[in-house]
Amino acid sequence: MATPRVHLPVLQRDQVPHAAQIPADPLVDLFARRIRYLRVSVTDRCNYRCSYCMPEDLGDQLTFASKSAVLTFEELERVITVFARAGVRKVRLTGGEPTVRKGIVDLVARVAGIAGIEQVVMTTNGHLLDELAAPLAAAGLSAVNVSLDTLDPGRFATLTGRGDLRRVLAGIDAAVAAGLTVKTNAVALRGVNEAELVALCEDAWERGAVPRFIEHMPMSDGQLYVTEAELSSGEIRSRLEAALGPLVAQDRPGVDPGPARYWAVGPLGAGQREVGIISAMTDHFCDDCNRLRLTATGDLHACLGHDDAVNLRDVVRAGGSDDDLVRAIAGAVTGKRAGHVFERSGAGAPGKHMIGIGG
Ligand code: SAM
Ligand code: SF4
Repeated sequence: MATPRVHLPVLQRDQVPHAAQIPADPLVDLFARRIRYLRVSVTDRCNYRCSYCMPEDLGDQLTFASKSAVLTFEELERVITVFARAGVRKVRLTGGEPTVRKGIVDLVARVAGIAGIEQVVMTTNGHLLDELAAPLAAAGLSAVNVSLDTLDPGRFATLTGRGDLRRVLAGIDAAVAAGLTVKTNAVALRGVNEAELVALCEDAWERGAVPRFIEHMPMSDGQLYVTEAELSSGEIRSRLEAALGPLVAQDRPGVDPGPARYWAVGPLGAGQREVGIISAMTDHFCDDCNRLRLTATGDLHACLGHDDAVNLRDVVRAGGSDDDLVRAIAGAVTGKRAGHVFERSGAGAPGKHMIGIGG
């Protein structure tokens, strides 16, 4: 049954409840949602500058963490081991751009080797995937989500600031060839890629990937949010249906779809194609949220849409025990909000940047 929606006041970081006792189940929140999935941003740096995420002209507003502030591989392994003991089963490595973190293949191997972790997956812009897909798969990665907003090379270069479409397409092909499950992610933007929605689906299907569309979300205090550019999930669906026929909702009991809702396209059978839509704004998924987010500097955020966080790096570097880490994690979980409070106007946006939290 859906959790009743209440909007809690926005807590400041130092007001986040901190559990003194370790609760019986530290990964169950006050709304009875069980956390199974940890998204880990391994760097806040990126080789692209996507207009909706961290445009070049953000200037001084965007500062990057110093190397010493970022969790080391040893620290990440320890923290993720504690999460796994508490019940996390899936880890997504993200960023910034995770593939620019030196030694990323080694990190995947370390995380995949942690007892209890069943799936290690990654979200990437795909720029370095051509070379990395095979070693990542061999290290234990099972799936990648690759950002691909347009198939037009010029538009791609403009939208990503520094991107190279050819490399990303080669990266997707290499990932499929390496046996990874591949999904593409496109932020659907009016007047930018709205005429390409069907082409993006067809291209992904031809390559052996599942296309997905994401509603544009207001981050960075709503500064990057251009309301006229947002395409709602309803608009995305009706555009796809006009060209591809009815989309049939896919409900798979027991399978965690993440934040996306999946739709089947075309006749039933082995060749049936799928498309995913992440309707973060117009039909959000907070009631079923099973995720926590850890930034590169150790801030544990229980919600993408709020700024409050508990810092786990500080616990580790202060010599904290595993129990101390569990207590800090339980504090963040206890403070997990009922849902985000983004509005389509851009109001209610968190101050943090998407590049820092990793999507
Ligand atoms: N660099 C990697 C990439 O681009 O896939 C991983 C990090 S990126 C922040 C993760 C996801 O967030 C990408 O799929 C990107 O399209 C999405 N994203 C970034 N800014 C967004 C925004 N304002 N609204 C919706 N999605 C956004
Ligand atoms: Fe970099 Fe990904 Fe943000 Fe684009 S969406 S700027 S690739 S972190």
